[in-house]
Amino acid sequence: MSAASTSTSTPAAAAAAAPEPESRLVVRAPATGALLGEVAIDDAAAVRAKVAAARAAQLQWAHTPLAERARRVLGFRDVLVRSARELAGALERENGKTRVEALAMELTPSIDAITYFARRAEQLLAPQPIPLHLYKHRKSYLHFVPRGVVGVISAWNFPLSIPTIEAAMAALAGNAAVVKPSEVTPLVMLEVKRLWDASGMPPDLLQIVNGRGATGAALVEAGIDMCIFTGSTATGRRVAAACGERLIPCVLELGGKAPAIVCADADLERTANALVWGAFANSGQVCASVERVYVHASVHDELCSRILAKTRKLRQGDPAAGGDVDVGAMTWERQLTHVEELVARAQAAGAKILLGGRRRPGVGQFYEPTVLTDCKQDMDIMRREIFGPVLPIMKVDSEEQALSLANDSQLGLLGYVFTRDKKKGRRLAERLEAGTVMVNDVLATFGAPETPWAGLKQSGLGRTHSDDGLRDMCQTRHVNHDRLALARDPWWYPYSQKVFERSLKLLRLLYRPR
Ligand code: NAD
Repeated sequence: MSAASTSTSTPAAAAAAAPEPESRLVVRAPATGALLGEVAIDDAAAVRAKVAAARAAQLQWAHTPLAERARRVLGFRDVLVRSARELAGALERENGKTRVEALAMELTPSIDAITYFARRAEQLLAPQPIPLHLYKHRKSYLHFVPRGVVGVISAWNFPLSIPTIEAAMAALAGNAAVVKPSEVTPLVMLEVKRLWDASGMPPDLLQIVNGRGATGAALVEAGIDMCIFTGSTATGRRVAAACGERLIPCVLELGGKAPAIVCADADLERTANALVWGAFANSGQVCASVERVYVHASVHDELCSRILAKTRKLRQGDPAAGGDVDVGAMTWERQLTHVEELVARAQAAGAKILLGGRRRPGVGQFYEPTVLTDCKQDMDIMRREIFGPVLPIMKVDSEEQALSLANDSQLGLLGYVFTRDKKKGRRLAERLEAGTVMVNDVLATFGAPETPWAGLKQSGLGRTHSDDGLRDMCQTRHVNHDRLALARDPWWYPYSQKVFERSLKLLRLLYRPR
């Protein structure tokens, strides 16, 4: 790996047009096009070697008592806390997000999740008795055994928090982690790896493999024991198939198309604030971003004018330039083109652009915060993941109509409901087909490590975060042992008519028909 930092300014568009070298990744700042560094690509042999090194380290680590594992993982956490300013700067440069987002959406959730799981791991991974209702002569318990090497393949929109949390949780559960960062943002995890090594964690326990899709595919094939994948639904399907072929568990965190239902009785000021942040934070490149709004006709105009006023005030620019900005750059030129195309198609199909609707002129990959009204359910902008700073709004006649349109999607990661009526909010939330639904709030549960992060439908399989998410990183093994030492169990040999009649009597006694 060679990672050279320079400040040469190259226009992003010209850079994106240049052919990509086969053997390395060239990383440029999305806000300026400046060259940030180059990273060597790991071929299949290098990936296998890193998985083997991780496995060797894991065999020792698995025997380290949990309290000691937790102590050392907290040491890594401490180094992250001390380096938070530098890491926020690295995220600003490589990812294009603002430094407040780097802190609030990446570093703080990572540090908090590591703290939460490190403090609770001993309790969460302790053997769990299973009370047996019938087999009173025996006892059962579950115990949690590290899986081995966990492969973590990640996306470019949260290049630090997602793989760092997964790697730390894997280590707490007694595993090693091999992280494959996105080819779009490979640098920041190299910095995290440097801090991991400096913190006193076993260096080989965390490996980074870099490259494009082929490197990710090689990681799945390199003998890992579990795969945690974050990315698009299309790639997720391929990863699931490869894991299925090897019969290793995989967790898939895929795309989202979060709907927001705005009821007639919503607090419009809070709703407008939430929708503006939920659509434009991280330049809309969040799997949980508000991607479509269904607002009751009676409050449609008032909500739109509040959204418009708030969006007009957003300051967009290079987050690393020193001034205060609210909306940073889009991380990937290809994603920006996708957003341009979706908005153009929506406009051609009759959507009205109230604000934005174009790439910001000048240097860098910026798309202006965009508000669309008059959207219709059959428009691509309402059906496909946008993953950019666009807020499409559709007027509806009733909450029932909003709910049915919200559920009319192949994706089901997050959903949002806005109402002043707490009971109604929960009722609607329970009927929304999404892994997580928030009432009167957006995005934030990624920062609550106790809660599961999981998509329904084409948005994913399995879960990350939460107490169960930590246990999922272990094999759950069941031991059943004797409580009373009988000479033989009643259903053992020899069989006889007498045994049958006695058993039948017992069965009818136990399950007396009502
Ligand atoms: P992507 O699917 O293009 O790539 C994701 C990762 O998979 C990258 O590291 C890539 O190199 C790797 N990859 C590509 N082909 C592979 C293969 N055949 N085998 C193994 N790995 C392979 O996705 P992306 O553009 O990086 O990310 C954007 C998507 O991620 C969006 O859809 C977004 O919603 C989703 N996302 C979901 C969550 C979540 O928690 N649900 C979080 C962040 C992003």
